[in-house]
Amino acid sequence: MILKSLQKGFRHGSLFFVGMLGLSMVAFRCADGGDELPVKESTVLQSAVTDTVPPPDTTPVTVELIGVGDMMLGTNYPSASYLPPEGGRTMLADVEAILQDADITVGNLEGTILDSGGTPKRCNNPAACYVFRSPESYGQHFAKAGFDFLSLANNHSGDMGAAGRTKTKEVLNEQGIKYAGLAGSDEMAIIEKDGIKYGFCAFAPNRGTCDIRNIPRAEAIVRELAEQTDIVIVSFHGGAEGSSHQHVPRATETYYGENRGDVYKFSHALIDAGADVIFGHGPHVTRAMELYKDRLICYSLGNFCTYGRFNVRGVNGIAPIVKVTLDQEGVFQEGMVTPIYQMKTHGPKLDDQKRAISVLQELTEADFPETTLVIGDDGRLSKKQ
Ligand SMILES: [Zn+2]
Repeated sequence: MILKSLQKGFRHGSLFFVGMLGLSMVAFRCADGGDELPVKESTVLQSAVTDTVPPPDTTPVTVELIGVGDMMLGTNYPSASYLPPEGGRTMLADVEAILQDADITVGNLEGTILDSGGTPKRCNNPAACYVFRSPESYGQHFAKAGFDFLSLANNHSGDMGAAGRTKTKEVLNEQGIKYAGLAGSDEMAIIEKDGIKYGFCAFAPNRGTCDIRNIPRAEAIVRELAEQTDIVIVSFHGGAEGSSHQHVPRATETYYGENRGDVYKFSHALIDAGADVIFGHGPHVTRAMELYKDRLICYSLGNFCTYGRFNVRGVNGIAPIVKVTLDQEGVFQEGMVTPIYQMKTHGPKLDDQKRAISVLQELTEADFPETTLVIGDDGRLSKKQ
């Protein structure tokens, strides 16, 4: 990075000038062969005299964000037999170190957290309808894994009615995890960390959540967050589901008779309104990514940690962990995809076959041939020069 090498050169330079005091110098080059330094002579000489005072830190500030898809670590409803072994402690264990390695880590909490009670939602179509209630002790698993923001905008945060929502929020508050996505009450969340303010909001087509189909309202939320914070992170749960819906259609999607939003139009509109990164999920499969106005959009991060009642066969069982580096303004710098896979018996594990990377490459090439985003075979994300 230019400023980093400049700072490094400056340090070398001031030592050099201590040794050369009394001699006149007009310019020097970086010790590592870098560019000529645009440092004024007077500044350099002053630095030589007051060498104990370190130069100002001119390293450009970058931030690292991680996004993952759906999480439901196990449900005690309708029966405790749907819970994983060891109280769910091992579910995220294999990827914890990766999830913790960012300034802010974001995921979708696909369910409710409460030990018992609540009002299970009525299902019109029991074949396509599941109700998720995770034990309250599971809140600590998300905190331990490093999650800062969780989305409650999805089709399961209302599974246990008002009691489910209240207890879920209480558990997350206890764990110091911020959340958003509930219309009227919890539409946005803000975290300040190392002098940077991060704003978070989340959308879905489901009752009680911030509506992905009401783009003007979503834009207003993003605009407000953009005014209050430095980096605006948007989560959405939208689009049709399953292996036959891996492509982004650039149109409104309907599934089981429900309008699931136009995720393309939504994402672009929110970036126009001030969003800096968009982490999508909902289709339960991985979808393409693109750069729009130098902001990263992930259209679906798939099933990330979904125990028991989820289909994790084939493409449903692979997913990316997306890490993205932004500058202070939210402009995409680079990124990394870590591919994971799940089986019925365990949570996310690193995938040696790197299937989520090749799926992302194929889908992105097919759906967004115009994008400047490059996805390397090793998962590295960069911008086409
Ligand atoms: Zn869902």
